[in-house]
Amino acid sequence: MARTYLDTGRPIFALATAPGRAALAVIRVSGSSALERCDRCFSGLRPLSDARGYSLLHGFLVDPDSGERIDEVVASIFRGPRSFTGEDSVEFSCHGSPAVASRALAALERTGMSPALPGEFTFRAFINGKTDLVRAEAIAELAGAQCESARADALSRLSGTLSSEYASLRDAMLDLLAEIEARLDYPEEEGPDEADAAGAPSPAQPGLAVLASCEARLERLSRSYLGGRLRQEGALVVVAGRPNAGKSSLFNLVTREERAIVSPEPGTTRDWLEAWIEIGGYAVRLVDTAGLRRAEGGVEAEGVRRSLDLSGRADVVVYLADGRAGLSSEDEEFIARHPGTIKLWNKIDAPDCLPAPRGGGWLPVSAKKGDRLDSLEAALKKRLDSLAAGGDGGASSGEIRLASERQKILVDRCLESARRAREGAAAGLPLDAIALDLREAAGFLGEITGEIAGEEVFDRIFGSFCLGK
Ligand code: GDP
Repeated sequence: MARTYLDTGRPIFALATAPGRAALAVIRVSGSSALERCDRCFSGLRPLSDARGYSLLHGFLVDPDSGERIDEVVASIFRGPRSFTGEDSVEFSCHGSPAVASRALAALERTGMSPALPGEFTFRAFINGKTDLVRAEAIAELAGAQCESARADALSRLSGTLSSEYASLRDAMLDLLAEIEARLDYPEEEGPDEADAAGAPSPAQPGLAVLASCEARLERLSRSYLGGRLRQEGALVVVAGRPNAGKSSLFNLVTREERAIVSPEPGTTRDWLEAWIEIGGYAVRLVDTAGLRRAEGGVEAEGVRRSLDLSGRADVVVYLADGRAGLSSEDEEFIARHPGTIKLWNKIDAPDCLPAPRGGGWLPVSAKKGDRLDSLEAALKKRLDSLAAGGDGGASSGEIRLASERQKILVDRCLESARRAREGAAAGLPLDAIALDLREAAGFLGEITGEIAGEEVFDRIFGSFCLGK
């Protein structure tokens, strides 16, 4: 039967660096008896199992059966529980060739250790109480960070800012729940004095202020997801416009790659091209769409359909109009359908370029010469900043943001239950009904951090990690 994350009996090993040629390849091993088993593959001044935690040993990785040397390595020793996984662990820094890595991994497997599942080291850290699920997800987010904003947010989550917010919300709810349950158990102890005391909840309105504050904090967290996701995963920016408007020229210029087809014949760019670039600290997936000409059937019509579909899904659309041809009804139609579009009036270098329409917010540029393209960059950065801030006053820079869809779904469920509890309390519903909603809300927070979580959650979360994490 296939191993699962919960099979924690055997030590695991994996290549922790990307496969291929590099200066170093790091192989990670973790688990009880990991050091003893690794000793069968290690030849140095001392056995690994004699080494103290946080020490380095120089030596050779060897074939456990023949004793043949595989590579000269440095082994970093970590002793549980003071290790990342909480278990005894070794990291071998080997030479970074695929040949070394494959021989070394095969040797380790022959000592009876198991190849790690994706994210299994982090899972063991979680199961051994070294991290919660929120910080475990932050590890994957940090490893996948493509741009500065993603790195900064993921590191903040890894250091526990988001986990503390969840824990503090859950504590507030559990305290209130304890208070309500005490009242349910000892109703005769409710006195009029208690109800009147400043800030103290009356029996009919248990902890209204606490509930309202939890609700507001949960709303803030929920709203932060849009910006958090954008900062983590990057923004989809679609370059649209009629055929010949200059989309491919702009795409080429921005990406500084000659990957888009530049042709004077309309309709040459039939599908879209894309490239990842960084603008103002954000990862941007820049997409050059097919021309938006109304075409009858065939490849081009499909291209147009897909480009319209992409524009609909874009975080930001950059629309080019051909300044030499002037504004067409198709241009106007598109813009009316895509509010918030950044509009470029292209080809200003051409002597026959018409003046940009007044008052429409058109930015005059030349995609061919690169004139005034800084205005596009500034407009894009401004739009991305506003989206990342949640557009309508969500988390601003430096605030706690979540980027995990799993967490967002649970935060929204928690918010729903917390709201029901607050509304119930305000309407004077029986205490046990309020307690039910509150318990449910606290449960969702426990699921987020992993205090309450099942195996399928582990598979989903850790299964998306890279090997060796
Ligand atoms: P697309 O169909 O929107 O991708 O347009 P292209 O980028 O293929 O450009 C179509 C034609 O317009 C080509 O001949 C380009 O050289 C020309 N073109 C694009 N941008 C400019 C510009 O800023 N100035 C001038 N003068 N010509 C341009």
